[in-house]
Amino acid sequence: MTCPKCHSTNVTAQIVTESELKNAHHNVFWWLFIGWWWMIIKWVFLTIPALIIKIFSPKRQKLKQTQTTMWVCHQCGHNWRA
Ligand SMILES: [Zn+2]
Repeated sequence: MTCPKCHSTNVTAQIVTESELKNAHHNVFWWLFIGWWWMIIKWVFLTIPALIIKIFSPKRQKLKQTQTTMWVCHQCGHNWRA
């Protein structure tokens, strides 16, 4: 690997872990098979408890991690994605 800026071979690779939070959503099949009657039961029997749970329970989130390789040039300090 050579630096695209100064064409030096004095470069090192770094593994960078990037993470982003994604809200967890139920998929279409969950709504088709479980969602609709579960919502009816919930609204008929558990409206008030469900509302309380909704207020106090934390938002469901999924952690998505992606690894990217970053190259760093020691000659000119330029860094770029592989
Ligand atoms: Zn360079």
